[in-house]
Amino acid sequence: MDLKEFFPKSGHIQRLYCDKCNGHLDLVFDDFSETVSGVEISINGLPMLHCPKCNEKYLPDDSRFAVIHLHEQATKRSSDIVKVTRNKTNQDFGFGSVPFIYDSDDYKYIPGLKRPWDEGFLTPVFFNREVLLKYDSSPTYRLSFASTTYGEIRRGDDFSMPFGLNGNGKIVMWLGDIARLPEAEQYYLRSENIESDHSIGSEFYDGQIECVFTDLPKEDDLFKARSEFLEACFTKFGSKIAHLD
Ligand SMILES: [Zn+2]
Repeated sequence: MDLKEFFPKSGHIQRLYCDKCNGHLDLVFDDFSETVSGVEISINGLPMLHCPKCNEKYLPDDSRFAVIHLHEQATKRSSDIVKVTRNKTNQDFGFGSVPFIYDSDDYKYIPGLKRPWDEGFLTPVFFNREVLLKYDSSPTYRLSFASTTYGEIRRGDDFSMPFGLNGNGKIVMWLGDIARLPEAEQYYLRSENIESDHSIGSEFYDGQIECVFTDLPKEDDLFKARSEFLEACFTKFGSKIAHLD
């Protein structure tokens, strides 16, 4: 491969969508091994974006720059081979007092999340689906869905918390949003907090990051209407009429 191919094309921004099928990409850490303009470059655990449908891989901008940087270093040393193992960033963004499990690589390599003025705010934090049970069963909270993969938890006017449901059935919320919740709430969330699976493709991502609200399929229309109906019943009668949100 030519080194030039690693420079992002002018005007091209790597997004979370596959060029071929337009589906969501997942972040993966894979081994890179290519001869780039005469230098054999091997990197263990390089962040890449993977389309599970097409099995296509794309390099996030920072991974492209890593290859360019290694090529430059090798050229300076007049070497034609580089082998490195990439270390994970493992950065603590310092949000809140409850130590949540998250992967700072998600923030750095999943397209669209970086906010230099609010470093780490949009780091995805993952939860078991069961985390919703409390919000579903307690009358203090309201659980509503804009679609099957984009929902919101509310407690009166105290807080509202958007969340997503990823393709693997995990719940995703933003670290910065979580840190604004009352501490007791954060401890509850922490009890269902799990390691990242690096997959955040959902209507939650589309709506929150890309401000794209796709036309709802019939299933989502039904889901939303059901949510609004339950909400209206709660307002009128003061109790939840559904057994399961
Ligand atoms: Zn694809």
